[in-house]
Amino acid sequence: MANASPLKIGVLALQGAFDAHAQRLASLGAHPVLVRKPEELNGLDGLVIPGGESTTFLWFLERGGFFEALQQFVAQKPVFGTCAGVILLAKDVRNPAQKSLGALDVTVERNAYGRQNDSRILNAETSLPGGPMEMVYIRAPKITRMGVDVETLATRDGDPVLVREKQILAATFHPELSDDTRVHEEFLKMVAAAK
Ligand code: GLN
Repeated sequence: MANASPLKIGVLALQGAFDAHAQRLASLGAHPVLVRKPEELNGLDGLVIPGGESTTFLWFLERGGFFEALQQFVAQKPVFGTCAGVILLAKDVRNPAQKSLGALDVTVERNAYGRQNDSRILNAETSLPGGPMEMVYIRAPKITRMGVDVETLATRDGDPVLVREKQILAATFHPELSDDTRVHEEFLKMVAAAK
């Protein structure tokens, strides 16, 4: 839209792969905001929870009411989680079980692809227009149960790897590390629609 002010998209920047997300969002015309404190969630149109180590995220989030602030944000605004971000958003986490925001009705198993397939790049099917998509996996979780309201947007060997439930988009891979911009574009569409 001409002259519309850019969408303000937070990127949780406690640790992990936040920089590539911020760059991708900026390249698509959004205004990325690095979020390191709970009050920095105020006024955002949407939020990206990047990959990293979900246990380390939780360690930071347990301080200063950040976890509760994030839970409130997720209930109100569009959120896009990648990899560890999916683990934080999931209702049910296994291998081992761990605390989560409980916002996305899926079960995820952490580090589920075993040593040989631990981290890899492959092309897989997606229902987003434009054909198969390059996917970068880094010690990825596997979605092993999908709630009835969760929609599959891409699969890897039959497993859902890009899913959506209402205002939540979740990728077990790292779209910010590929040149393909479709997943972030899809998220920005969701944010624009919710505004
Ligand atoms: N293995 C990490 C975890 O369990 C996720 C890896 C990632 O985000 N690339 O939290």
